[in-house]
Amino acid sequence: SPIPDYLAEALGSVEFDQSGATADYIPELADADPDRLAVSFCTEDGRRYSQGDADVEFSIQSISKPFVYALALADRGFDDVLAKVGVEPTGDAFNELSLEPGTGRPLNPMINAGAITVHTLVGPPDATPEARNARIVDGLSAFAGRRLSVDQRVYESEISCAYRNRALANMLRANEIIDEGPLVAVAGYTRQCSLLVTVEDLAMMAATLANRGVNPVTGAPVVSAAVVRQTLSVMATCGMYDGAGDWMTRVGIPAKSGVSGGLIGALPGQAGIATFSPRLDRHGNSVRGVDLFRRFTSDMGMHLMEVP
Ligand code: GLN
Repeated sequence: SPIPDYLAEALGSVEFDQSGATADYIPELADADPDRLAVSFCTEDGRRYSQGDADVEFSIQSISKPFVYALALADRGFDDVLAKVGVEPTGDAFNELSLEPGTGRPLNPMINAGAITVHTLVGPPDATPEARNARIVDGLSAFAGRRLSVDQRVYESEISCAYRNRALANMLRANEIIDEGPLVAVAGYTRQCSLLVTVEDLAMMAATLANRGVNPVTGAPVVSAAVVRQTLSVMATCGMYDGAGDWMTRVGIPAKSGVSGGLIGALPGQAGIATFSPRLDRHGNSVRGVDLFRRFTSDMGMHLMEVP
């Protein structure tokens, strides 16, 4: 297959770009090796291709958000989740307090305020925080087709300085959007962000979305097609935060980034794609990851708005 050669060449074309910087507000992430570079493709029939540092583990961070959103939709239904979190892009940074005037709902589930709320909506309404954390590890592991675990060091590192997320959670509690202790919600959300993945795990998670919610390798049905449609739609409009419009016009597929340098894209009915490169642009999106995806779109014509 020419695919491994193509992927190796793509990595080579961005390798020397050292622009951007690792996230500096989480000490463990600031210390990450900034030169790591990897890519993985997983097709909807389960073929997998990877190049670069494909077996290096890193914390999933905000790439957990669409998957936990999917679990919340599956567990509580669309109406209950939409009552608490909207679906409108913000044009603001991911950690901004972007709440809808009047209702106090976070504008969408991809920003931190929305994701902290969504975290509290996983499992049955009376689930304990422990049961909820377990449901999230089980659910994300089903997307990945492999048992995932939490990086305790990353968790401790982020929680020790999560002042901003605590502020967001306090506002959510004051607005009665979450109905539990704000610190419990932030602890669970931070734990979800600390799950360790490789770029191959991320590609398979994205491929599960691309494959109508069925893991293409294990065959496990993880969420329904309706949940996938909602999740991919929100990724398309909000997944790249205040870089979402630029992304949609130039790359053209639903995507999600994370501050540890991961980036996923899902091409419905075809494949899941993931990249890993820790230096970030001013939106908190991976510099070389965005470059690689632009290249994939122009080489493979994967822009969803391109009329064949
Ligand atoms: N855990 C990070 C935070 O809450 C995730 C942010 C991200 O990846 N964009 O700030």
